[in-house]
Amino acid sequence: MNPIHINYTCNGHQTVSDCIKELIEISYNIYDEIIKSNIPTTLVCGGQSPSYFCLAMMNFDIYNSDQCDIIILPHSKGGEISTDQTKENKEYCERLKDKNIIFKSNVIILDGVHTGTGINALSSAIQYYNTKLQIHKYAINVDYLISKIPVTKTYIVKSEPLFSDTFPRIIKSFKPNEFTQSSKFITQFINMDDNPIANMIIDLSKLYLKINLDDTLWIKLNHVVTDEINKNKIIYDEQQNKLRIQKNNRRIKFKPNIKINSFKYKVYECPECLSCSGTSAVKNPYDTSLFSHNLYCKNKYSIPCE
Ligand SMILES: [Zn+2]
Repeated sequence: MNPIHINYTCNGHQTVSDCIKELIEISYNIYDEIIKSNIPTTLVCGGQSPSYFCLAMMNFDIYNSDQCDIIILPHSKGGEISTDQTKENKEYCERLKDKNIIFKSNVIILDGVHTGTGINALSSAIQYYNTKLQIHKYAINVDYLISKIPVTKTYIVKSEPLFSDTFPRIIKSFKPNEFTQSSKFITQFINMDDNPIANMIIDLSKLYLKINLDDTLWIKLNHVVTDEINKNKIIYDEQQNKLRIQKNNRRIKFKPNIKINSFKYKVYECPECLSCSGTSAVKNPYDTSLFSHNLYCKNKYSIPCE
């Protein structure tokens, strides 16, 4: 497909080009780290959220299936916890056997991780198929707070929701009530021909680090900065700046305002965001989790000191 302008209006601070460049850069970092570990690995793409990332990886010139192959294993839980995990595992393993899926001894499941139900169920099914595998979970999320389960690694991708929920699906969903139906287990990308997002990712991934992607027609045509994006970008940059200051102020001391609460105990008030602590922050000022501030307050991780 020749480069075209993709008709999609972003509502965040990034243009379509920004989002796709972000996806390509992170995908490269993830895959490059795996390759450099020198541990033969199978990367599992378990559904739509990681699919465009995996598509990028498979088109980099560093892609080497001997060191790290990528396999697509649709497994769609929709956040629902299994009533019978063993039954689901048995049924899913039949599908893996149908396709003669072979894993390298180190397995990484890449996915957007929220409740963790989906990635845990897929991990459980793969482990059931081969109990000897070392399975790791890598999350691609918009921030560190999203995942409710422990994961091996988290990669922060601001545009992640676009690739998982908004852009066209390239992986067919496969729900537990379909696990017994072999014909519905599709382990390839779908509908790629008329999908400009997929074509843009393929073309740019092939060129990544060889030329400056900003010079490509794909990027030029899709870097459309609307007034809305401009406004959001200013807000986003301000927030990032506040977070940077917050991080730099970690563990330094600040002078709190001293207040007396309604039970006549001493508490602290933050002079910046005016949030009030409880009494335990006064007793343990070094435990910053006891004093909650506004999200962007520069004192969030600082130590109150009278
Ligand atoms: Zn504060």
